[in-house]
Amino acid sequence: MKIYGYGKQNITEDDIQSVLEVLKSPYLTCGPKVKEFEQAICEYTGAKYCVAVNSATSGLHIAMLAAGVGGGDEVITSPMTFLASANCARYCGADVKFADIEKDTANIDPNEIKKHISNKTKAIVPVHFAGQSCDMEKISEIAKENNLFVIEDAAHAIGSDYKDVKVGSCKYSDMTVFSFHPVKTITTAEGGAVTTNSKELYNKLCAFRSHGMYKDGDMANDWHYEMRELGYNYRMTDVQAALGVSQMKRLEEFKKRRREIVDYYNKNLGLSHLIEKDFSNACFHLYPVLVENREKFYFAVRKKGLNLQVHYIPVHTQPYYKAQSYKWGDFPNAEEYYKHCISLPLYPELTDEDLKEIVQRIKELL
Ligand SMILES: *Cc1c(COP(=O)(O)O)cnc(C)c1O
Repeated sequence: MKIYGYGKQNITEDDIQSVLEVLKSPYLTCGPKVKEFEQAICEYTGAKYCVAVNSATSGLHIAMLAAGVGGGDEVITSPMTFLASANCARYCGADVKFADIEKDTANIDPNEIKKHISNKTKAIVPVHFAGQSCDMEKISEIAKENNLFVIEDAAHAIGSDYKDVKVGSCKYSDMTVFSFHPVKTITTAEGGAVTTNSKELYNKLCAFRSHGMYKDGDMANDWHYEMRELGYNYRMTDVQAALGVSQMKRLEEFKKRRREIVDYYNKNLGLSHLIEKDFSNACFHLYPVLVENREKFYFAVRKKGLNLQVHYIPVHTQPYYKAQSYKWGDFPNAEEYYKHCISLPLYPELTDEDLKEIVQRIKELL
């Protein structure tokens, strides 16, 4: 019996060649491939600047730092996300405020965001769940009215469009963070990137990525450098960037196939699923369905060779966040969604035969 997981990387001979060339070159890190990858992301998204990093988690951390988030501040994000969207605020000593999701998209609800804004709020981190953009125009209006930074967690959403722009263009935000973990749409094994249109934020992101070091003005021509802030080593290697450059070339192809698979499931499964809004043209990362008895369904599909996953356990219910006074019952929409959700296989390698097979195995259980 063929086993299917929920996601899988797609690696070709071209990807392998691209990596091998770097291994034979003088630069394994801090070389031209990282620049080339950043350039490719700028060209694709339309953003002015891009900073490649070693994970989206690092990217979210330096985005927080660049926005000046620190102790005593509050950051608003969705409870229906991976831990990192919230943890990045904690790294900087800020408190996390969650805002509940919309039932039909599982994206953060802009009206809920408003309810959680206080005079301590510094930033909003909308998460583009499953690849569908949040309502960024609304979120950006709320941010402007309250003088807040918007940092998009687009770990799911490279390749997605919102209205007239690509996610990552930063038309409606200050910074956007992508992930290139193997389950995401394109991969660099581990990796991430931050895009922005602000020169000032770009300079800060570059510094925080590498120890808070600056080498500018007269220093550019000799050994001097200055550490002006406490930074980290969050650099991406050229080996990873080479894989990224090669993968970016297939992003449109990946998007097309991912959307075909989503259409197929929507038409053939008859299970309750998220809706796509008119403003969205998503490069879907996940295909979650909602089933009556998720516990039972999860173990039953496993027996049928479908190793599906649950995205996500609401972040506020984790022991760490419970210790900060959150509890079950705080965000009913996210909790209700969690009780029923399970993500089906969604990756470009799936053939039409695979899809038929998967749908048949699931229908035998309904
Ligand atoms: C995967 C993911 C991250 C973290 O990405 P890494 O590259 O693994 O650090 C952050 N946010 C969301 C929503 C994710 O899905």
